[in-house]
Amino acid sequence: MVSRYLRFKGYDVTYVRNITDVDDKIINRARENNVTPKELATTYYKEFQKAMDALNVLPPDIEPKATETIEDMIKIIKKLEEKGFAYESEGDVYFRVTKFKKYGRLGKQSLDDLQSGARVEASGKKENPLDFALWKAVKTEDEISWDSPWGKGRPGWHIECSAMSEKYLGEQIDIHAGGQDLIFPHHENEKAQSEAAFDKDFVNFWMHNGFVTTNKEKMSKSLGNFLTINDLLEKYDANTIRFFILTNHYRMPVEFSDESLKAARNGVKRLRNAYEDIKNTVGEEKMEEAGKLIIPIIDEIVKTGQLPFHEIDTMQELEEKIPADMMNLKIKNIKIFINAMDDDFNTSKALSVLFDIASVGQKIRVSEHPENCAFCVALLLKLSSVLGFDLTKSETLNDDLSSQLMELVISIRQKSREEKNWAMSDFIRDELGKLNIVLKDQKDKPTIWSLQD
Ligand SMILES: [Zn+2]
Repeated sequence: MVSRYLRFKGYDVTYVRNITDVDDKIINRARENNVTPKELATTYYKEFQKAMDALNVLPPDIEPKATETIEDMIKIIKKLEEKGFAYESEGDVYFRVTKFKKYGRLGKQSLDDLQSGARVEASGKKENPLDFALWKAVKTEDEISWDSPWGKGRPGWHIECSAMSEKYLGEQIDIHAGGQDLIFPHHENEKAQSEAAFDKDFVNFWMHNGFVTTNKEKMSKSLGNFLTINDLLEKYDANTIRFFILTNHYRMPVEFSDESLKAARNGVKRLRNAYEDIKNTVGEEKMEEAGKLIIPIIDEIVKTGQLPFHEIDTMQELEEKIPADMMNLKIKNIKIFINAMDDDFNTSKALSVLFDIASVGQKIRVSEHPENCAFCVALLLKLSSVLGFDLTKSETLNDDLSSQLMELVISIRQKSREEKNWAMSDFIRDELGKLNIVLKDQKDKPTIWSLQD
């Protein structure tokens, strides 16, 4: 959503999402499963990628792996050591937290508070219990490891991110995102490492998202109250899941329940119905035409905040084709959408704009000038795609075979109607009804179908 919106606003976005493919958890799990850490990480990475595709989440531009950035990590650790921010201890290297004066600022905690909260380490390896590992010496011979100035070992988790971030985005980055649980210690430590090494503010904007909760508790494996994306995708489609997430502000927790997902499904359905109904009223050609007129207007508003009034020709041309009241309404919709999204991604407000456009479109569709609703649907498709929705995709049964079978059933029913076999036609409708499939007959147009709750 963030990268889509920033690109829509005309920003040149480089979106990097890194993969941690070596850490304690991976090493332990790989050992249990008798596979290499690389094999284990690859298996889960493929699962993750499949789920992201199914959710219509855009892939990042660059997706570095920690194990391919080890040299860069060693370079930064060496630099920190030279500057006095790191020290070696029995083959491990630690970050000297007390030397970094801004430590704790991201999580709004003072060093004293953190220190009194930290458990005292039994091992005397660290100068201070808050010091964290930049490099970990190898423990057993068969363990995955790399050569370094401090002997064989592997990087700590936090330094992976500082190194990949610097390699692909530079010493300072605009936006760093992640779950709220990463603020401390992970992001606090990343910040400390990068700022100590490069003498620059690490991140201009931090975006930390709230958790999906059940009964107000974080969904997590350890609590056993979690659903996988694949579980969810069996019951709800990508548009619905996205809608559910976007109804809340990203910084807030989002409470999972079947009711709220059903509500989300109904929300998507209203938008999709507007698209389908309008398409069936004005036809695809008219919709495409409207799209061609609307898109440059959106672009102009995005770029300058207003219409190109200096380009009189364009305006006259537009006025001839788009009625003035319609134009004003569309401009208002676009501006509210942009203002909402510019306000720290107020997606629930942005969604309400989509509903406004959809309901105006539906009203115009049954008015004296139904052709004008094409502008509404063109705008609806454009703005909803900025939020990552694909309204042209049907809710469920979105696999090709199911849609083809439905078309077949509808054409059989059509045939029986032509033959005035009303009993058969009703039978088909009733039986489909039992499967929650609703048929909508239209005058002079093919029958359309949809799924009901
Ligand atoms: Zn990180």
